[in-house]
Amino acid sequence: MIRAVYPGSFDPFTNGHLDIVERSLLVVDHLTIAVLKNTSKKNLLEPEKRVELIREVFKGREDISVETFSGLLVDYLKMKNTTCVIRGLRAVSDFDYEHAVFLMNNRLLHEFETIFLMARSENSFISSSIVKEVASLGGNISDQVPEVVYRQLREIYNK
Ligand code: ADP
Repeated sequence: MIRAVYPGSFDPFTNGHLDIVERSLLVVDHLTIAVLKNTSKKNLLEPEKRVELIREVFKGREDISVETFSGLLVDYLKMKNTTCVIRGLRAVSDFDYEHAVFLMNNRLLHEFETIFLMARSENSFISSSIVKEVASLGGNISDQVPEVVYRQLREIYNK
């Protein structure tokens, strides 16, 4: 059984993330979506809230688990007993950062591997930060995030 981890901020989880999750499961048997508890970054949603929303999206799925993690990704991978990470690539601008992160993780853990999946064209413009900005200004982002996330954002910004 091939297990992988999909780490990220997911603040909030978008349809771009959703597509990467579904497509990665054509390659691996089980995926853990790992929500980074990043204390230095200013987030909209608490990590536990993000986990709750993503769990709702994948309710009833035995091939997907969702949890938070903190600290070094390679330490988390060791704990999960895997060396395989999934990441999405939207544009060349993602590549430089992802390449640097891969090289560092590979230096820290020699067996470390990343499977990169290219975003589909219809998702390549979607990012959590732009979704938040548009939602905060009253724009319609209902086709860019799962329904539960949409409702949560409306609740926050319609106050
Ligand atoms: P991070 O802060 O770790 O980059 P994100 O939640 O922004 O966390 O992204 C997590 C992963 O999902 C990254 O690999 C990112 O490139 C990928 N990703 C984000 N948005 C999309 C999208 N629209 N299509 C495909 N992959 C995406």
